[in-house]
Order: sequence, then C-alpha cells, then structure tokens
Amino acid sequence: MRIKVISPDIITYGAMVIGGVLREKGYDVSISRFIEDTDTDILLFSLYSTQHLFDDRIKKAIKSQKERGGRCYIGGPVSSHPAMVLGELSPDAVVVGEGEVTTPRLVRDGPSPGIQGVAYRGEDGMLNCGPSPPAPMERPLPLIPSDIGAQNVRGANVYIETHRGCIGGCGFCQVPRYFGQEIRSRSIESILTEVQAFKDAGAHRISISGGTGSLYASEQGRMNVPAFVELLAGIAGIMGRKNLSSPDIRVDCITDEVLDAIRDYTIGWVFFGIESGSETILKKMRKGATVDQVREAVTRCRDHGLKVAGSFIVGYPGETQHDYQKTKDLIEELSLDDVFVSAAEPIPGTPLADLVLSTPSDENPVYVPHTGEYKALGLSVAEARAFDLMLHADLNKPVFSMADDRTFDLYLAEVRKQGSDIRRATECILRYSE
Ligand code: SF4
Repeated sequence: MRIKVISPDIITYGAMVIGGVLREKGYDVSISRFIEDTDTDILLFSLYSTQHLFDDRIKKAIKSQKERGGRCYIGGPVSSHPAMVLGELSPDAVVVGEGEVTTPRLVRDGPSPGIQGVAYRGEDGMLNCGPSPPAPMERPLPLIPSDIGAQNVRGANVYIETHRGCIGGCGFCQVPRYFGQEIRSRSIESILTEVQAFKDAGAHRISISGGTGSLYASEQGRMNVPAFVELLAGIAGIMGRKNLSSPDIRVDCITDEVLDAIRDYTIGWVFFGIESGSETILKKMRKGATVDQVREAVTRCRDHGLKVAGSFIVGYPGETQHDYQKTKDLIEELSLDDVFVSAAEPIPGTPLADLVLSTPSDENPVYVPHTGEYKALGLSVAEARAFDLMLHADLNKPVFSMADDRTFDLYLAEVRKQGSDIRRATECILRYSE
C-alpha cells in the first residue's frame, strides 16, 4: 500500500515521525512539503496550523484523492478540534492527538469505532473515539526527506523532540493540552541515533523543539539537570556546538548548570516566552511566572555569557493600554537581543479559545479599531500593538537599529496577516461552538 504524507510548506518533525512509524510497518511511504495532486492509496495530511483548515490547496487535494477512490486522513495539532477539521476539509477521518499508535491502525483497518483516537463522520453524525493513546517514547527513525538540509525553520533544518509535555499551563498554548503536563522523555541513545541520521541525511543545523528544553528527563516537576547537560553535550558532539540551538525555556526552569550547558554546547542563545510586562495579563494568560522572574532570568543568562531573545503576545482579551505600556516598558528595560511579537491567536481547545468565545467582538482587540497613532493604517488594536512593539523592540536592542521603509512595510504586512488569520480562526471557533 502506498502512503503519501504531506506536511504543507514545512516538513515538520511530527510528520517525519509518523512517516517513520508507517515505514517500519512495511508500507511504501513518501513525504512531501508540496500540496500536489498525487496518485497514492492513502493521503495523510499532517496539519500544524489552524490556517490549514482554510487552505484551498489542501481542500482541492483531498477532493481529488477521494474522487480517485483513495482515502484521506488528517492528523497533527489541528486535530484537537476534530469537528472543525471534518467540517472544513472533509477527510475520511481525523487522528485525534498523538498519532503513532492510532495512524497505523487507521491505515490498516479504515475508520471504525474500535480505533481509539479516531474521529469520522458516521451515519448519525460525527463519531469521536476519544483521544489517541499516548505514544511510546521509543520509536523507529523518522522518515527524513532527502532535502532536509535545504529546509529552514527559524534557522534550523529541523526541530527534534526530546520529550513530550510541559509542566506549564499557559492559556494560549496547545502543548499541555496535546501532550499533557507530565513529562515523557526519550532515551539519550535514541535521540543521538536520530541526530546522527539527520546529519547523515544532510541536516546541518538542529534545534530542540518547543516546550521547555531543560525539562528533559524531569520527573514529577523536578528537573534532571545532569540529563539535560548530557543531552546537549551529546548532540553537540555529533553536530558541532555552532549547529545546535536550544530554544524556548521557561524563566523558572533555569539553573547555573543549565545556562552553562547552553553556553558551552549550543550557539549560545536562550529564548524565553515572556509574553507580557503586565502581571495582570500574565495571570490572565496563566503563565505561572512573574515579571520579576523574567528580569532575574535575563540577568542570569547575561551573567553566563548568553544572548537572550523573548517572545511577546499582545492583544490578549482584556489587555488595556496600561497593560500594553508595561510590556513596552519591560522591553525597553531588558534590551533583548531579539524579540518576537505576535497577536494573541486562539488555538482550538485552549483556554484562550474559551476566553475569546466569551469576549464580545467589540471588546476583542483583534476586532476593535485602533484610533491612536496608526489610525491612518486601518489596523485593529491588536495589530497596532503588534506593529508598534516590533518597531519599539528594534529601537531597544543592544545594537541600535532604526526601522527603514522596507522593515516598516514588512512589519505592517506581517501584523495585517496575523490579524486576518486570527479573525478567520476566531470565526471558525465561534461557528463550531454553536
Ligand atoms: S511554558 Fe511554553 S510549552 Fe509550556 S505551556 Fe507555557 S508556552 Fe506552552
């Protein structure tokens, strides 16, 4: 049986893992980032963004596949709201949650009530057989595309997974909902074998995937620092320290040893999800960290010779101008080496999505028109704050950079796209909550 795995535009690590699991079962599996019309028995879309639900290229490929008499299944992070996936894209079934156990069963037997983790349309409406069972952390090698070395995701060819789950419960984040709050870690041996396979396949830059890298091998909330150090040393031993980055760490998950290891075995950057300078908004976001913890973490990183990047979310429902000003003040105070800004996007199944559902649109910053400094640009409050914060962050970097016309246009296009994507996702969530 021929199976084609498509992970649109970027071949995610998760798609490669599912490809590897199916290959081990003996199927003829190929993987692609291109949404093409393919003659295959099973088309398996691995979708990682809510925006994929509205992608006409994907809709067309599914329609053609079904017209040819082939089957089409969808898995990946979008599966947390299967009714939405079935309603928008009409696949034969959705793999809900972790796909390693469920996908091979679905491929072998087709959708049936006996397969845990599958949702599909039955005669009486949608049948949802609950979430997939948690996947075992030991698994076959991923199906690595031959052009992995040409893929660029924020500077890395691939973000590999060392563990699943996060002890945090941030209201905008899907990780604890998708993988749980217990940490499940892979063995160092299997991670290193995999890293070697990526290198052999042409990958030259690897990153440890999102979540909190330093939670690797932690148990019952207690970090296992020696294991994290061994992990970084092992990966750097294969890839070289200049070819490894370890992004996304919680400000409350660092120790001196963790920071030394990041300095000694990676490119020397730490990425913190700071999100806001307002304690009120951090609480609303369920961030579980305070502004003072952020300040202390940034200082400690610098004391260890590390560069620090921070990500911020603006336009969270309930964010006032005063809250936003506190975020601007914090960026000025911290003078971060790099800053990522986004408007709050409700991902289906998260507390933020629930909050957005209960917020009238005339109070939701992504809909409220901005009437201040950028009024002539026709932005919403969320877009205007994102735009303003991007410019503000540039002004406050350690190396001064003034936005030129090109940067201005780039940021403007970026926030406009974010705003329209978020409104489309919000309207879809509203539609399926009725
Ligand atoms: S700490 Fe990071 S991965 Fe964990 S819940 Fe918060 S945003 Fe998600």
